[in-house]
Amino acid sequence: MSKEHYHIHKLTGKIQTPKLLRKGNQASEFTFLAFEEDMETLGFPKKLQEGWQDKAVGVFKELLDNNKALKTYMDICVRCGACTDKCQFFLGSGDINNTPVGRAELMRKVYRYYFTPFSSKGEPFSEHVLKQWMSYFYQCSECRRCSYFCPYGIDTAEITMAAREIMDSIGVGEKYATNTITQVYRTGNNIGIDANALKNTIAEFEEDLKDETGKDIKIPIDEEGAEVLLVPPSADFFAIRILSQCLVMRRYFTKQVLVIHYHLMHLRLQTLVCL
Ligand code: SF4
Ligand code: SF4
Repeated sequence: MSKEHYHIHKLTGKIQTPKLLRKGNQASEFTFLAFEEDMETLGFPKKLQEGWQDKAVGVFKELLDNNKALKTYMDICVRCGACTDKCQFFLGSGDINNTPVGRAELMRKVYRYYFTPFSSKGEPFSEHVLKQWMSYFYQCSECRRCSYFCPYGIDTAEITMAAREIMDSIGVGEKYATNTITQVYRTGNNIGIDANALKNTIAEFEEDLKDETGKDIKIPIDEEGAEVLLVPPSADFFAIRILSQCLVMRRYFTKQVLVIHYHLMHLRLQTLVCL
């Protein structure tokens, strides 16, 4: 057995907080808006419409009514600050709005205005508020690290998800995520490979497999009765990894039958690899 070569760092007992990359470097960050056609495909308004504030308040209310955790998170933060330096986005930017409590406050101030008796301490929906939401709720990766350190278990990721849902409902979506999900709607996979592209890719695999093994290995499409399903990530169809997977799988199956299963929105493809 070969000896592993890797270095294990010793624990020193000291927690090292990284230095700020550049203070305020994310303050003016504004997320790219989704394509209008993508928003439409997903059933959202194409863009911000007249009267969006009322719609946003309505969706916010629905979320509060149906998600008791969200309502609780809006009410119970005591501003203790235990979460502030636990968010990597704050550590990297030094921006107070990137602390978990600061990020949630962007939503809490709107919550206070519309849904509590303390509206004077809140702020209504406005373009300024929306800009802040769009910027800072897309600088949260929903990693939930902060929730481990909050004595009340407030999960800022839930707050981020609710904010994004409200924004989508009024026609303000984020370009990358919206486009990725649109590809899934259109083609059944997140990178938008269509059926012909997939068939071409598989034909190339056949050639590569022949180069690797010297055998004429066929990968028929839509083969019924295959014995093994391999469900690779769609991105693997563009990578050499899928070929390695085929070769590794060959070692494990005595009948030497391998299926690559691929589900497209309108077309169900099953490929059978006989090795
Ligand atoms: S869930 Fe969001 S706010 Fe909390 S630590 Fe992760 S990125 Fe930061
Ligand atoms: S740790 Fe929890 S209670 Fe304290 S400020 Fe952060 S979210 Fe609020």
